[in-house]
Amino acid sequence: METEMEMRALEATPLSSDLTPPIPPISVALHDKYLASHCTICFRRLSNPSSVTTTLDAYTISLMHSCSACSARVKYCSPNCYAADSNGHVSSGECGLFFLLRSTAEDSTDLRAALRLLHYFECLGILPSPKRHESSGRIGGLLVAGLVEIMEEAGELAERIREGATLMARARHTENFGDFPHEKVSVEEEMLWAVMLNGVEVEIGELGAVGVAVYGPWFSWFNHSCLPNACYRFDLSPHHEELQHEGSGSFKVFPASSGNQGSHVWKRWNFVDSSIVPGLCWFGPRIIIRSIKPLNKSEEVCITYMDLLQPKVMRHLDLWSRYHFICHCKRCCISPQMYIDFILNCDTRSLNCANSTSLNPPLWLLISWRKP
Ligand SMILES: [Zn+2]
Ligand SMILES: [Zn+2]
Ligand SMILES: [Zn+2]
Repeated sequence: METEMEMRALEATPLSSDLTPPIPPISVALHDKYLASHCTICFRRLSNPSSVTTTLDAYTISLMHSCSACSARVKYCSPNCYAADSNGHVSSGECGLFFLLRSTAEDSTDLRAALRLLHYFECLGILPSPKRHESSGRIGGLLVAGLVEIMEEAGELAERIREGATLMARARHTENFGDFPHEKVSVEEEMLWAVMLNGVEVEIGELGAVGVAVYGPWFSWFNHSCLPNACYRFDLSPHHEELQHEGSGSFKVFPASSGNQGSHVWKRWNFVDSSIVPGLCWFGPRIIIRSIKPLNKSEEVCITYMDLLQPKVMRHLDLWSRYHFICHCKRCCISPQMYIDFILNCDTRSLNCANSTSLNPPLWLLISWRKP
């Protein structure tokens, strides 16, 4: 049974405060359509001259530092990014996956993020049990609960996970892995599920989401609320020459759990200072959590996992289809419903009626909205 984790404020904090330092990812994968135009590890645009320090143009440099084994599907903005990632690109199986998918248009983002995550855990010596029924519900601190039930239901999602995991195993040349014939792709299945549950779309600049990143417990332990008190943003990593001077910063949050094992689990999985991290995704885009409301000391800090401008039914559908949980936050449980949900549910055709009073909520709704 997994431990329920949450993040709480260390002290009373005003709104618009950064609650975490910039957190580097433990796995990244550009969306397929940005592979040709962005650095595969730091997500910088290859045509951006500020990303290189020589007189060669950025595109030429990217060609010099690309992987020839997969016909240059991955490109790097600089010799440093190339040196940091080229080994991981091949060892994780990402290079082999491009070869397997060479004649299909199938998007490989989640599979590549899962391969890199698996490689990261292998490098750290953390591997999930080959027997799924022994799963603790977390790997490397990341939530992977619910997979057994999904696979037993054998629905569309299970089929997607099984097909993806089989491809991953083939890319890693581990399709004959182990003495467990019915569990032979379980490691890949769990990693793919970990990416689906914990991966976050990375939005940098005006392009929208350019890729997916998985951050460690220091991000993934922030729970969802439809009434969040924090948000997150992304930053590109500092340039390589500045990286060594990058301070580790401080967290204004601490982990907690119902079983009071928060700090123990945090210590176990908080490998942010591990010397192995810089060799993997240290150059990847950072994520920073910021308060959007004043916080009391020890108050739980929550972010949102989805679009909040949806009525409750749609929010619940979204959360269930993507994350397989039912939200019991204040906004979902409050009765009567909050003013914002009243507005979202109202018939907007009423807006055309100049004298309509149907948009005026009853007084008790306004009172509930104004309550702190
Ligand atoms: Zn780069
Ligand atoms: Zn390659
Ligand atoms: Zn909710």
